[in-house]
Amino acid sequence: MKQHDAMYIDGSWRPAAGSDTIEVVNPADEQVIGTVPAGSAADVDAAVRAARAALPGWAATPPEERADRLAALHGRLTERAEEIAATVTAELGSPLAFSTAVHAGVPLAVSASYAELARTYAFEEKIGNSTVLHEPVGVVGAITPWNYPLHQIVAKAAPALAAGCTVVLKPAEDTPLVAQLFAECVDEAGIPGGVFNLVTGLGPVAGQALAGHDGVDLVSFTGSTAVGRRIGALAGAAVKRVALELGGKSANVILPGADLAKAVGVGVANVMANSGQTCSAWTRMLVHRDHYAEAVELAAAAVAKYVPGERVGPLVNARQQSRVRGYIEQGIAQGARVVAGGPEAVEGPGYYVRPTVFADVTPEMTIAQEEIFGPVLTLLKYEDEDDAVRIANGTVYGLAGAVWAGDDAEAAAFARRLDTGQVDINGGRFNPLAPFGGYKQSGVGRELGPHGLAEYLQTKSLQF
Ligand code: NAD
Repeated sequence: MKQHDAMYIDGSWRPAAGSDTIEVVNPADEQVIGTVPAGSAADVDAAVRAARAALPGWAATPPEERADRLAALHGRLTERAEEIAATVTAELGSPLAFSTAVHAGVPLAVSASYAELARTYAFEEKIGNSTVLHEPVGVVGAITPWNYPLHQIVAKAAPALAAGCTVVLKPAEDTPLVAQLFAECVDEAGIPGGVFNLVTGLGPVAGQALAGHDGVDLVSFTGSTAVGRRIGALAGAAVKRVALELGGKSANVILPGADLAKAVGVGVANVMANSGQTCSAWTRMLVHRDHYAEAVELAAAAVAKYVPGERVGPLVNARQQSRVRGYIEQGIAQGARVVAGGPEAVEGPGYYVRPTVFADVTPEMTIAQEEIFGPVLTLLKYEDEDDAVRIANGTVYGLAGAVWAGDDAEAAAFARRLDTGQVDINGGRFNPLAPFGGYKQSGVGRELGPHGLAEYLQTKSLQF
């Protein structure tokens, strides 16, 4: 696998200050596929200095020119889409078809949308006798996870660059190779040196140095709630802007008038996608008691199609594998009934977990409250709509969800009662312009579309 033994800082690949490295492992066969530098606070400092130096020039670049550069970046990502898919499959283990459609496909849609938004966004508006200017926040420290490695990078870097901000990225240690590929595309797109910088490294070292750096004006983080809370506290103490995309425990509510077979089938597919490593996954399926037994049978039958190593990949590393197995064991210990899968090992190498469906799950069980981040679906029973709302809203999270009903209006009316940032109505369709982000402990701020762009802007009003 192609890799750089260097950081991308100030428009060139330069060696790290220290000699520590990170081994990149293919989780499907546990083979080492590459090595990248483990950056230190000194590397982060060099990258932040480069981003600060580049800020005045990039912020003053007319939005149409920034749009041209983003369009060129989209063009490079499009030309290298096959390489992107192969790289993500190698470092995350996802089936190649999924990597092509989602890990490469979604960043193409998002980068295209920001090339367009940079051109069309109203960076100036008139309100009465005032002119309001929407100006870049400054230097952005972006810290991203491994689950959708390129999407998470593009969902931060593209709006930041469209806004006129400069960026220092610290990608997840499990998936640094696609981050290096992205930096190559930035370079090939003619984006000036220092505008985008990449420092690979460990979270508690390079990530922490970036989150706490005085030269960073906004920290945008996606990952676990535990780390997000720490980054939020650091940002609060320094009075700097912060955006947090954290965990979820989203509900898939199937109302009595819905097409049950379709709702269950799509629900299972949603949870099994990316081996369940999706923060917005609909991990709790809520079914009316009259249809519960049938839904359990349908879900168990549907999950049989998800064969590890074929349609469903491994988890990202051994730690996540044992964490997820631990949750499955805890579910059994608390009285939930396994109707497919279970904690037993999958034969052969790779960090696989058996796709698992739990019935007889009650809302207070750990598997119905905590984010498992693996191929595990829980089915919960409700009595009536009020009960369904109570269960759906009964976790600390509020990232996404789904509602199925006899018609869209009924589903949408129910969706208004959910404390969550995004709801798919009768299946929904991905919209790269729709805001994505959490209520409650799922986070602060929004990504994608114009709302995602606004995160990277601050307003100045001129009174006439
Ligand atoms: P994590 O929060 O530890 O890692 C996310 C990013 O933060 C990585 O780039 C990491 O290097 C960095 N990081 C870690 N510690 C840091 C620190 N002290 N300061 C600054 N940056 C730091 O997440 P993880 O360990 O990779 O995954 C654990 C759990 O997080 C998962 O099981 C899942 O529940 C959740 N998760 C959520 C998402 C999401 O999209 N919301 C993505 C990945 C993981």
